Amino acid sequence: MTKIQSQQYQPVDKLIKQLSRLAGQKFILSCGHHVTFNQYLANDIVIYNDKDLRVVCLDCGS
Ligand SMILES: [Zn+2]
Repeated sequence: MTKIQSQQYQPVDKLIKQLSRLAGQKFILSCGHHVTFNQYLANDIVIYNDKDLRVVCLDCGS
């Protein structure tokens, strides 16, 4: 990876800040299970990062 290429990547803190905007929101995942963001004991999720994003719970993603 060149220096210019590496400069295109943002630190994970910025991604976490983006995801934190979802706090308290409830979603039905691609696998049909449910998630509420930033809730105690909420489902963990797996994001399949392909051309089309797919989000499943940890049980269905492992
Ligand atoms: Zn699931």
